[in-house]
Amino acid sequence: MTWYWYVSRPDELMLDIDGGPGGSKLGPCRLRLEAAIRSGKLNVCSDMYLYRSGQPGHYHVIVPLKASMSAARRFVWEMQLRSDLYRGRCNLMRAEASTPAPGLLISPRAWHGFYRDRDAVCDCPRKHDFRTFSKCPAAQELRGNAAAGESYFGELRKLRMVPKLKIMEGRIDTDIFAYSEAAWEFDNGQRLPVS
Ligand SMILES: [Zn+2]
Repeated sequence: MTWYWYVSRPDELMLDIDGGPGGSKLGPCRLRLEAAIRSGKLNVCSDMYLYRSGQPGHYHVIVPLKASMSAARRFVWEMQLRSDLYRGRCNLMRAEASTPAPGLLISPRAWHGFYRDRDAVCDCPRKHDFRTFSKCPAAQELRGNAAAGESYFGELRKLRMVPKLKIMEGRIDTDIFAYSEAAWEFDNGQRLPVS
């Protein structure tokens, strides 16, 4: 399939809005945008753009700004407006490392009526996880080979429960706190759900 890549400009906010059990997060996004505009904190253009991103309730929302902003400020604003937080954290890490194209969205369709053309296309067989990213020619073109598939925070183990700690206050070994195998030894049989 064909994927369409849009790199955020210094005068754009690009939001990746998730769905959820209570429906899309578009509602909170709109409320927060209203607060930002009414308070004069965000100077936005008269037109913005809204596209379904593929899954039910998920949206790509693009807010053109009247003036450019630093990458760090833009990415903080995107998170404030309910864009996906993991994406926001990665964007900040990329901006801080001066990685090219630190913020971007990948759409399964070209954005009809958008005010400018896409920045790249690719034909990767599936959605872009880190593995796909590292091999994707569009990612390499936009971010360079080294940064194309970079991850920043490590991979979470697929545990649904973690052991409950016996020590809940004061000094504790980092190994016991952070490594789930070590914590088994201190496990009193209770498990806490991972959410
Ligand atoms: Zn690709």
